Amino acid sequence: MSQSTASSDWEIVIGLEVHVQLHTRAKVFASCGWGFGQEPNEQVDAVVLGLPGTLPVVNREAVERSILFGLVVGAEIPERCAWDRKNYFYPDNPKNYQLTQKDFPVVVGGKVEIELPGASRNVMGEHKWIRLHHAHLEEDVGKLSHAGGGSLVDYNRAGVPLLEIVTEPDLRSAAEAEAFLRSLVAMLTQAGVADCDMEKGQLRCDCNVSVRPRGATKLGTRTETKNLNSISGVRDTVIYESARQIRELQAGRAIVQETRGWNAEQGRGYVLRDKEDAHDYRYFPDPDIPTLLISRDTVQRLQQQVPENLYDRQRRYMEKLALPYTAASVLVAQRRLAEWFEEAVAAYPANPQGIANLIANDLLRDLAAGSAESSGEGVSTTPAKTVDDCPLKPAQLAALVKLTDEGLISKQQAKEVFAEMFKTGQDPMVIVEQKGLKQNSDTGELEKIVREVVADPAVAKSIAEYRAGNEKAINALKGPIMKRTQGKANPSLIDQLLRKILG
Ligand code: ADP
Ligand code: MG
Repeated sequence: MSQSTASSDWEIVIGLEVHVQLHTRAKVFASCGWGFGQEPNEQVDAVVLGLPGTLPVVNREAVERSILFGLVVGAEIPERCAWDRKNYFYPDNPKNYQLTQKDFPVVVGGKVEIELPGASRNVMGEHKWIRLHHAHLEEDVGKLSHAGGGSLVDYNRAGVPLLEIVTEPDLRSAAEAEAFLRSLVAMLTQAGVADCDMEKGQLRCDCNVSVRPRGATKLGTRTETKNLNSISGVRDTVIYESARQIRELQAGRAIVQETRGWNAEQGRGYVLRDKEDAHDYRYFPDPDIPTLLISRDTVQRLQQQVPENLYDRQRRYMEKLALPYTAASVLVAQRRLAEWFEEAVAAYPANPQGIANLIANDLLRDLAAGSAESSGEGVSTTPAKTVDDCPLKPAQLAALVKLTDEGLISKQQAKEVFAEMFKTGQDPMVIVEQKGLKQNSDTGELEKIVREVVADPAVAKSIAEYRAGNEKAINALKGPIMKRTQGKANPSLIDQLLRKILG
């Protein structure tokens, strides 16, 4: 067999197992609540601690969020799902088993659309579909910390609903893995399934990587790097691990199928243990939780909650509303922002681009400033951080764009009015009048001023040049007219009048 030498002779294959904490009030088999930043072991109860005599009860909200996810990715929702016990002894797990779904998961199949880098002004980047194998609903486990020669355990996280989403080995590069996770996070958050706050550990990934000679059909031996808690961690793991495997194979050594960890500070992976097999865990059906039947009524009801697919929305904005790529992708990244934009367009359908521009530039800038301000110290008022807590309403933004389009105010003045609207929530016309910004569109009065300026000997030279065919010479007359109207004259009207008077 000939040895491949260049890394481009190798194909990288990646499959991800993504663990997401679901957005629910209670834990998955107990009524006990959960949340971030509590004192250790405050959010536990007898069920979570596995005390004798307690029994689990399935949280309907957690099941419905899981089904909703399945519908978002176009998966099959089987008629029934069931839970199994994964048995192992470790102090993160008070019952000595974890409740998970091995054979009958709540979600089967499905696919996620991803976008690769390379978009231009009017064209999206390359798109690909990544197939999902399934998603199952399990319970999170407690957290151990090892310090000062001892170990501490916190069961606040134990029993938090965790949806494990397993992909087919369809991803082919670090960039694809990154794009997949971004799409997945957008879909989960936009549907209200999960918040995916990675800083709070709400999304963790196991990353399976193998390599094979380009053109080979059989998959190579993979390793699994556990517990990555950021998108960059997954990206770096793929880069590191694929390079390591290629080096090993090029040196004539075989890849060992093993479970690995990732040291983000050092930017390197390390061996944790040999790969464990399913039979090591002695899985068996949990006798305490009956098989769950999922009615088609429930599925239909949840289907109504599925938001428009992110990229369908983006294509619609680009094709039907002629938005450029960047504005469209900024708007669709947040569901509420997109809906807000659409409400504004409904109020004034003539200029979606003008509306999108004000949102993508001015509105988002002021919202971001609000977030920065409120996280600083000594701030008494709470500035707006999302479109829903700013006083400005979509129809008012639409009205502002309309005023500009009608030439009543200039684009520059519109920005000034916007800043005021953002703070006070007043109608644009009220602000225009208060500030005396209204451009003068009264032809009679304006015509008088134009005639006076034209009669001034100081501009005679420019007029002669214009009449001799120098189009641009007319601009020299506009300054004095603007000055005499204190900048309130409508520029296109001045232009029209000048041309009429000068003939
Ligand atoms: P296990 O449950 O033992 O970890 P699975 O067969 O369920 O193994 O696969 C888990 C993940 O590993 C899936 O995302 C799958 O796509 C991925 N995977 C399986 N084989 C390979 C391979 N050869 N290379 C890369 N990823 C793989
Ligand atoms: Mg696994």
